[in-house]
Amino acid sequence: MTLSEAGALELDAADPGHRELFDVPPAQGGEYPEVAYFAGNSLGLRPKATRTELLEDLDAWAALGVEGHLDAARPWLPYHELLTGPAARLVGALPSETVVMNSLTVNLHLLMVSFYRPTRSRHRIVIEDAAFPSDSYAVRSQVRFHGYDPDDAVIRLRQRPGEDCLRTADVVEQLGADVALVLLGGVNYLTGELMDIPTITKAGHAAGAVVGWDLAHAAGNVPLALHEWEVDFAAWCSYKYLNSGPGALAGAFVHERHLGGELPRFEGWWSTEASTRFEMTPESRPPATADAWQVSNPPIFSMSPVRTSLELFDKIGIGALRERSLRLTAFLDGLLDGFDVITPRDPARRGAQLSVRVPGGAGELSRRLRFGYGVIADAREPDVLRLAPVPLYSTYHDCWRAAAALTEVMG
Ligand SMILES: *Cc1c(COP(=O)(O)O)cnc(C)c1O
Repeated sequence: MTLSEAGALELDAADPGHRELFDVPPAQGGEYPEVAYFAGNSLGLRPKATRTELLEDLDAWAALGVEGHLDAARPWLPYHELLTGPAARLVGALPSETVVMNSLTVNLHLLMVSFYRPTRSRHRIVIEDAAFPSDSYAVRSQVRFHGYDPDDAVIRLRQRPGEDCLRTADVVEQLGADVALVLLGGVNYLTGELMDIPTITKAGHAAGAVVGWDLAHAAGNVPLALHEWEVDFAAWCSYKYLNSGPGALAGAFVHERHLGGELPRFEGWWSTEASTRFEMTPESRPPATADAWQVSNPPIFSMSPVRTSLELFDKIGIGALRERSLRLTAFLDGLLDGFDVITPRDPARRGAQLSVRVPGGAGELSRRLRFGYGVIADAREPDVLRLAPVPLYSTYHDCWRAAAALTEVMG
């Protein structure tokens, strides 16, 4: 602990963020009225505008019935297009490469239909050993679907003994001629490590593999340049740093060079060119955009919070948020100096999350932080506590509270 509470409050006055735009839950313990919220990497807080704008969309249904498809203030038929531009700018993509649809793991499957096309000599998938379970299950089921053995085909990248994170050079070395697909998390959910996406993508391509990224913990956290980095495909969810609510709709990216081509896709009536949607023809005419990966008509009331949130990111800019994120995370990192932080200490190799190894019972520790101090942190049993100071709404005072509470509980 290197700074006083008054010092943290001074930093907040000088570098205030955007907390006033969010609903911060009341604390269930401790001496402050609001929680110090560090679980924005799990479920982001609700922007105040979300409620207002969702009610507007909901009331258009009451006022217009089916005519809302065309006559609502935000018409439902082209509603998803309102999200495309802001989502594309957020991940450094062209609008034609970007679509918001479904949920994350569903998008990974739909994209693997196109991008995992194994042959006998090249059928392996590379993931990280510390992959989120959904990604592990998804790739194993894809491998089985194609008739291969997941125990043989899935390569899980392990850290070196005694190390917590992966080294780029070690990842690159594993990308051999039998690898069909590399599918890694851009920011690891557990360690908070930000991977070197451009270097690994280039190395995967040099090895003849397709390279996709799961950006669940990267989207809205760090600046991305998916188009420039020539990433083949990517998907991300919107309920973590993108503050769009539990189970919110996800994003998907397909690089321009794959658009309008012969890649296999699973189709439905939303895969066809919008102008042909009501021609009721037996054959689709897919557009040369990522919209061709859509299947069903989108749930408008689930899109509404994603639109509100993406517009907020668009207005503030991920560049400015990253700047504040670097200051805030460095501040928390300094306060946690005496703790076993497993996230890289180099700010360029991490986003907003710091993961702290605690001596077992992470769940019990997070309960004590919540009910004793009003500090919300995420526990990964047995021994990792994840703290994400989110640049949109977290404060230096929140960081001070978390460090003070941890010091007291563990000291
Ligand atoms: C949060 C997260 C998921 C969740 O998947 P859903 O399909 O949204 O339920 C998957 N993968 C990673 C890496 C995650 O961080």
